[in-house]
This record gives sequence, C-alpha cells and structure tokens, in this order.
Amino acid sequence: MDFVTLDEDEFTYGSVADVVPGVQRVVAQNPSKFTYRGTGTYIVGDRDVAVIDPGPQLDSHRDALAAALDGRTVRSILVTHCHADHSPLAAWLAAESGAPTYAYGPHAGAVDEWDIGSLPDDFGRAPEPAPDDEDGAAEPKVEESTDTEFVPDAIVRTGDVVFTLPGLEMRALHTPGHTSNHTCFSLSSGDAGRVLFTGDHVMGWSTTVVSPPDGDMGAYMDSLRLVARRDDDLAIPTHGAPITDPSRFVTQLVEHRVERERQVLDAVRRGLTTIPAMVTELYAEVRVELHRPAGASVLGHLVKLVDDGLVIAADSGRPRLDSTFAAA
Ligand SMILES: [Zn+2]
Repeated sequence: MDFVTLDEDEFTYGSVADVVPGVQRVVAQNPSKFTYRGTGTYIVGDRDVAVIDPGPQLDSHRDALAAALDGRTVRSILVTHCHADHSPLAAWLAAESGAPTYAYGPHAGAVDEWDIGSLPDDFGRAPEPAPDDEDGAAEPKVEESTDTEFVPDAIVRTGDVVFTLPGLEMRALHTPGHTSNHTCFSLSSGDAGRVLFTGDHVMGWSTTVVSPPDGDMGAYMDSLRLVARRDDDLAIPTHGAPITDPSRFVTQLVEHRVERERQVLDAVRRGLTTIPAMVTELYAEVRVELHRPAGASVLGHLVKLVDDGLVIAADSGRPRLDSTFAAA
C-alpha cells in the first residue's frame, strides 16, 4: 500500500493536503508545547465527508475548513475529546452543515474528582519562550485547556458506526486515559485500508500527557494495549505525522510507560518524596518548560502506584501534586 507521508516541515497552515486516499488534513495555526505544529483536522470521504476534531476557536482555521469543505456535504462530525484544541469548532461546523456531532460524551469533570493541589510556582518555568513556538508568534496560543461547552448530539460507544459510504465504514473505539471520554475512530475502506484516528491517545511527536483527575494512567495503559492488539495499517494522530506499523509503535509506548512507572516507584523507594524532585531527576534530559506537564504525568503514575498499593501519599488521602510520597 502506498501512503503519502506528510513531511512535517513542508505543510502549509490552512491548506488542505492528502494524507492517504480519501483522507485529507488541514492544520490549524496553534502551535504550542501541547499541540506541536498545531491541530490536524481530518476530512474523510470525497463529496460526502466526516470531519474529525474540527479544532480550536481560531478564525483562520474556521475559514480554512470552510474553504476545504466548500461544495461537499458534511455527514458526521467526530470529536475525540474535549480539549480546547480539538472540539470548540464543532459547534460552528454543526450549525453550518446541519451534521450531527458524535463523541463519548461531554467532558466528564466531576467524576471521581479531587483537589490535585499544585506545583511550586517557579517549578518548570522556562527563562525564554520555547523555540518551537516561533511559527505561531502572531496567533493566540490555545493550550490544553478543557472545552466544557461541548455536548455531542450522539453518544457513541466502542463499535458504534459513526460514518458510512459505499465501501467505507468508520466506528468508535473508546480509549480513556488522556481524558476519560477520549475516543479513537477507526476507518476501514478499500482505498485507505485500516486507519485509526488516534486523537491525543497516540501521538507521533511526544508522549501523551495523562493528567489527573480526569486523566487516568491505569486506564491509559489499558487503552494503549487495546490499540497495540489491533492490526491497523496506519495510525493518524491529531498532532504530528501518521504512524506506520502502529501495533509495534504502541507496544513500545506501553513499554516506555511501564519503564517510567518502574522509575517512579524506584525513586520513591530511594527516598525522593516530592513530584518536583522526581521530575528533576527523571526528566533531566527534557526541556524545562515541559517539566510542569511531566509533573502531571508523574502524578498520574503515582495515583496508579497508590491504587496498586505500592506507594502511599503520606500527608493526604488521594495523591496531589504537592503530596509527600513514601513506599508502602
Ligand atoms: Zn488533548
């Protein structure tokens, strides 16, 4: 099978480009430490189409999508999850096209919520702007905040059909972890083969942030294993280039997370008691401005280790960013 691999250095913001036969991408100009070069909105089909993650509330992206969809009929609007770089333009597109929105549900919010505290203010603050923020300097930054407004027209569960054309079918695959409502969408078609649109569950350029309380590391690792067991030809993430041999790639992600969990447990057993101390040691090679999201992921691992009975949060019930940790 021939795939057109998008060269990440050559795409143009706002223009529509083919990814594989029957799949196109428009990249929003919202580059940041969470979004890499920006949000990729995907269009599946030719005249009748599904749109995956319409994207952030940016006039330039809305106009680019309107141009890309001109003369076509939007049948389905699919939303992987409710972060501000994914779902906000769904409301505009639904109003414009009359197509229904499909998702697992609105942002879960209050389910099993607890106060996760905060990291010290000066921890992980970069002295200067990150180098990869340059191309977005003229546009507002849309970071990984939550879109609590989004409510889907249709609630989907794993296996539900969300879009069909002759010879083409798309189904939902619930993959909780990054958020509790995160859902991938699988495409099966004669032209493109088996393609999994992975949203932020599997990304090509970075590991996914799994930030409690809505992010859940145990669920995330189970959802990675679910994708690793599939036999997709290609995974297409929201941020970054398509991933060939997704099963092998995702198996490596699982191994990476298992190794990170082992490192966090080992750090606690060696007497590192706080998240800033663990991040400073375990993420020594990573740019300092990524240390705050790394702190959230370490908290994710610690929540799982507490649930597994291997670690205790000494000064609080549920683990917090400012807890003191000890081996159980
Ligand atoms: Zn996200």
